[in-house]
Amino acid sequence: MTTHNISTVAVIGSGQMGGGIAQIAAVAGFETIVHDSASAALEKCRATHDKLLTRAVEKGRMEQADADAAKARITYAEAIDACEEADIVIEAVVENAEVKRSIFADLDTRMTRGQILATNTSSISITEIAAATRTPERVIGMHFFYPVPVMKLVEVINGLATDPAITERTIALAEAMGKTALPANDRAGFVSNRVLMPMINEAFYAWMEGVAEPEDLDGIMKLGCNFPMGPLRLADFIGLDTCAHIMDVLAEGLNSERYRPCPLLRQLVTAGRLGDKSGRGVFDYSKS
Ligand code: NAD
Repeated sequence: MTTHNISTVAVIGSGQMGGGIAQIAAVAGFETIVHDSASAALEKCRATHDKLLTRAVEKGRMEQADADAAKARITYAEAIDACEEADIVIEAVVENAEVKRSIFADLDTRMTRGQILATNTSSISITEIAAATRTPERVIGMHFFYPVPVMKLVEVINGLATDPAITERTIALAEAMGKTALPANDRAGFVSNRVLMPMINEAFYAWMEGVAEPEDLDGIMKLGCNFPMGPLRLADFIGLDTCAHIMDVLAEGLNSERYRPCPLLRQLVTAGRLGDKSGRGVFDYSKS
C-alpha cells in the first residue's frame, strides 16, 4: 500500500470549496494552512469552521476535544509564503485558467522539495495548468464535490505528465481524509461533468420542447431512475451559469457542437436566474 507521506496540507482559496477541504484535512489530523488573497474571505472561512465544528459537537458527531484539536491545527494565512513548506498544496481559487496558471507558476518556484501541486478545478485542463510550471509531473487534479464534508468522492485527475507515484500518493491522501478516490484522465469534463452535464442539458431541452413541466420532469427522473434529486433541481443547486459554462467547456474540449448549452439554459442565465444562489432558477426559492 502506498503511503501519502504527508503531514501538512496547504489550501489556496478559502471559499466554499477551499474552506470545506481545509476543514476535513484538519479533522483528519493534518496540519492545515488556508491561504486566501481576500482577508474577508479568510475571516468568513474561520467563522464557518467554528460554526460547523460546534454543530458537529452539538449533534454528537464529534467530541469537543477533537473539534478543538481540529481548529488548533488550522492556520489562516494572508501571505502565500505560509504554504511553502507544506507537503501538498490544494488550489481552490476562482475557476479561471489564467489565475490558476499564474498561481501554479508561482508555487513551482516557491515549493522546491517536489511537493504535490493539486488543483480542485471542475473544468479546466490539468495539463494546461501543469504547463505553467517546469515540473508538470507533480501537478494533479483533486476534484472534491460540494458540500465537501458530506460528499464521499474525490475524482483524481492525471494530467498528461502526471507521475503515477504522485497519483498514488494523492489517492492515499484523499482516503486518509475520509474520501473515496477514483482516478480519471484529463479530458474535458473528466468523468463527473462529462456524464452529468449533458444529462442536465438534455433535461432543459425536454422542458423547452414541452415534453414535461419541470416538477414532473424531475419527479419522473427521481422515481423512475432512483435519483435523489431531479436534474433541473440539481442544476439550480449547482448554478445555471456554472452548468452553461461547463457545457461550453465540453463543446470546446470535445470539439462538438452537440455539447453546447440548451438555448433555454442560456436564456435563464441571461435573465439572472442562476438557481439557489440568486433565489430563482428553474424553481423559485424566494419564499423558502
Ligand atoms: P469561491 O468563489 O467560493 O472561492 C474562491 C476563493 O478564492 C475566494 O475566497 C477568493 O477570495 C479566493 N481567491 C481568488 N483569487 C485568489 C488568488 N489569486 N489567491 C488566493 N485566493 C484567491 O469558489 P468555490 O466555489 O470554492 O470554487 C473554487 C474552485 O473549486 C473552482 O475552481 C471551482 O471550479 C471548483 N469547484 C467548485 C465546486 C462547487 O460546487 N462550488 C465543486 C467542485 C469544484
